[in-house]
Amino acid sequence: MSVPVGILTVSDKCSRGKAVDTSGPALAQLLSEAKTNNRWVVVTTAIVPDDKNLIANTVQNWCTPKSYSAGGMHAEPLCRLVIVTGGTGISPSDVTVGAIEPLFTKRLPSLATAMVVGSLKITPMAALSQVTAGVVCDAAIVLAVPGSKKGSVENVQQVLPALPHAVDTLMARSGTRHLHENVEDTSVDNREAAQAASRSVLCSCSREDEDTTDAGSATHSQHSPDTTITKPIARAANDLSASVVRRARKSPYPMIPVAKALDIVLSNTKTLQPVDLPLCDIRAGQIVARDVVAQENVPAYPASVMDGYAVIATDGPGDYIVRGSSTAGSKEGTVTAENPLLSGQIVRIATGAPMPPGADAVVMVEDTVLLESTHKINDAGEEEEEELRVRILGSGRVEPGQHVRSIGHDLQKGTTVLHAGDAITTVGGEIGTLAISGNRLFSMYVLPKIAVMSTGDEVIDVLGEDASKTGSGPLLDALSYGAIRDSNRPALIAALSALGCPVNDLGVVKDDPDLISESISKALETCEGVITTGGVSMGEKDWLKPVVDQRLGGQILFGRVAMKPSKPTTFATIPQTKNSTENNGQQKQKFVFALPGNPVSALVAFHMFVAPAIRLLSGHALNIAKGVVSGWDNTEEMLSVLRPSVKAAFEGPEITLDRVRPEYVRGMLAWSQKYNKWTAKLMDQKQQSSRMASMQSANVLISLPCGSDAKRTVRHGELVTAIVIATPLFTF
Ligand code: AMP
Ligand code: MG
Repeated sequence: MSVPVGILTVSDKCSRGKAVDTSGPALAQLLSEAKTNNRWVVVTTAIVPDDKNLIANTVQNWCTPKSYSAGGMHAEPLCRLVIVTGGTGISPSDVTVGAIEPLFTKRLPSLATAMVVGSLKITPMAALSQVTAGVVCDAAIVLAVPGSKKGSVENVQQVLPALPHAVDTLMARSGTRHLHENVEDTSVDNREAAQAASRSVLCSCSREDEDTTDAGSATHSQHSPDTTITKPIARAANDLSASVVRRARKSPYPMIPVAKALDIVLSNTKTLQPVDLPLCDIRAGQIVARDVVAQENVPAYPASVMDGYAVIATDGPGDYIVRGSSTAGSKEGTVTAENPLLSGQIVRIATGAPMPPGADAVVMVEDTVLLESTHKINDAGEEEEEELRVRILGSGRVEPGQHVRSIGHDLQKGTTVLHAGDAITTVGGEIGTLAISGNRLFSMYVLPKIAVMSTGDEVIDVLGEDASKTGSGPLLDALSYGAIRDSNRPALIAALSALGCPVNDLGVVKDDPDLISESISKALETCEGVITTGGVSMGEKDWLKPVVDQRLGGQILFGRVAMKPSKPTTFATIPQTKNSTENNGQQKQKFVFALPGNPVSALVAFHMFVAPAIRLLSGHALNIAKGVVSGWDNTEEMLSVLRPSVKAAFEGPEITLDRVRPEYVRGMLAWSQKYNKWTAKLMDQKQQSSRMASMQSANVLISLPCGSDAKRTVRHGELVTAIVIATPLFTF
């Protein structure tokens, strides 16, 4: 059986690239060569500084069971064994044990003792190291060992024979043992990366600076430094600690299908807790969390629907004395409950005004004539003409209730006006209904606040304070030297606003790991997630992936998707330490979508993955999912809400299908009234990922499947799936 393993190197120097980590690769090699019943497969590695939060976050993240597949019965942690190397010495900066032990759901002191006892046979200094062992999340064994290459390997060697049984017990307990038979299939590329790391260790690699991963560790100081200069190949694309030359030349991230990527995104997205909001804080795009019940009748009194005269219906047409008037909003007039309207009398009345007691119908002013009036001085001292007698015209009957809205005619007290799951739209009808429901607060799902950042040394801000200066002349020089105006951030902000999300604009950030990581981590204090663009592939300044997993303690759940454009789309969760638990006691996760820099790639990835996640976060599809966030079996229904699509007739020149990746070309969806069908017209024949123009006026992404010998092209008139990203058109 294969067991997924994570190796976490804790070292300030290695994380800053000032030293090369040799312990991590040595441990990977030890495990790959171990002659135990289980096969240890290193599925993830990371290097973090001696930072308690980062260490704890990373370990917690790797050990927390998560569901990765739709319909999957079992939640699986990324790792069943985690080895943390470094930070176990006695100097003040050694914080590993303090970071890890609070995570233990079970302590395994004997395992730690076995490591120390074994190491003591080699060096008495082993007595000074704080190795520890325990179970995290009841799902994974975690060992903390010294940071030196020799010390870390020696410690793990002591307990290696006991580990298979320990891991077996945990896996049997969760009933998921069989899933791990698939580890090899799902993590082939990761394994390759790990094996590359191991191979490099075989080249007798050394750390540049022996005083690295476990500064102050006594055990470590006992080992003599290697003197060979070959360095390990970086274990992931752009390992922050590796030089450009030594980086992986092939992405270690498996290229996963679009459906799986979306499933991972949705399975790791939880609808935010509802809050009680006053009407003024409710926005279009929000979803009602609790049924809204009308607290009062509308109207609360019988009211006139017309400008005219309130009458007693049985009086019928004829000449009448006018007993004052009733206007909308006016207080009770001369006609009161004690002194009601009598036969032979009428009251002048305005639309919306309360019916005077005794009156039961309204006659329109157009159906009357004035017979007699008088002049009087009003309260303001002005002369005013007053009606005395009016004739009701017509020969027919006046119907009781004519032109009168009875109490509760528009809304009955006690009626449910909006149901949980209903959406507030830009039409205004829902907000209007809430306004008259007589409630002060409404339980609503929250629209997530999302931060947006463009990255790239070449990217010029067109939104910030300095943007006005870059409008024309001087910029042309810059553009000719490789600069490019930022189109991603403005486009994404617009797309997010259309979903109703509040946006935190992080501006343009240079290709600098420190700046990027600082900005993301600060934004996550107040935002649900961060969307970045650029720096996510294999270029030498592509820092997003390493920053997420080596600086932010995040877990990259996918780093490449089999699609065209947007292949390097990356999705990661980042555990939060502040205000960190949710209602169920689980650690709160936030997300980073690191989207490609090419403008079309960024927007396509947004509509394919980010928009559905935002809809799920904001409570859409709850009527279907009822709060279920993973493993739903009604995926089609979910998608119809979270990422709707229609079948449409393709309009455009014949397109040759890509053999490897499905393609998402930009199109315009229209309902043809003449032909009674949906048509999806190719927007632009130049569909390169850098050409924002192909996105302009597009309202669908036309989904083109991979080509095969049997199906090479898509032709005009063929039915295609069109993923709807904006309101369709209606044509003749
Ligand atoms: P990257 O993903 O950083 O390798 O960038 C890929 C391409 O997208 C490069 O040509 C970048 O110049 C371009 N690019 C990156 N960010 C932006 C942006 N915010 N706006 C427009 N183009 C960009
Ligand atoms: Mg770049």
